[in-house]
Amino acid sequence: MLRKIYQAGHPILRNQSKLVTKNQLAKESTQELIDHMIATLRDVPGVGLAAPQVGESLQIIILDDQKKYHEPIPKRVLQQQGRREVPLTVLVNPKLEILNEEMAVFFEGCLSVDGYLGPVPRAIRVHVKAWDRHGVLFSYVAEGWHARMLQHELDHLQGALYVDRMIPKGFMTAKNFVNLWRDSSQAKILKSFQLPSSS
Ligand code: ZN
Repeated sequence: MLRKIYQAGHPILRNQSKLVTKNQLAKESTQELIDHMIATLRDVPGVGLAAPQVGESLQIIILDDQKKYHEPIPKRVLQQQGRREVPLTVLVNPKLEILNEEMAVFFEGCLSVDGYLGPVPRAIRVHVKAWDRHGVLFSYVAEGWHARMLQHELDHLQGALYVDRMIPKGFMTAKNFVNLWRDSSQAKILKSFQLPSSS
């Protein structure tokens, strides 16, 4: 089933999400919610979704960055972003640790801020620990775009949106992003918004 994606301004996007208990995770309704999140994300399509975005204040996020989504983006830009395919991953009660203070600035959009994008500084290397959809603990280190997606989705669980962290001057419509900025290097993004160049 496809779920409605709540848009910025709805209070549910600003709530702290609740931890999921093992009992709750095993329930049919929770497993269905995860299936609905996957179907909804693939329908848009998008690369990440958090439960609050479909109206459930629970600490569940999914990632799914398929190769075919990279096709319109120049290889050089994908390389700078450190963007590679991320298979479908369900993370329940995820905990994030920043491993590297170094930040990268690239444009992010959000299914709950439909039609816009903005440049957001994010750590380039993180460690994440979570349960899978069956309650089995797993952990790994993520870099580049994968680390960015995790930080973006984890923010949703704390009631934060990327607009809270973006460089406001770079906020733009999706149409202008595609026409004018999608192929931009990080150096151009930084220069355009008059930030000190990062290492
Ligand atoms: Zn989002």
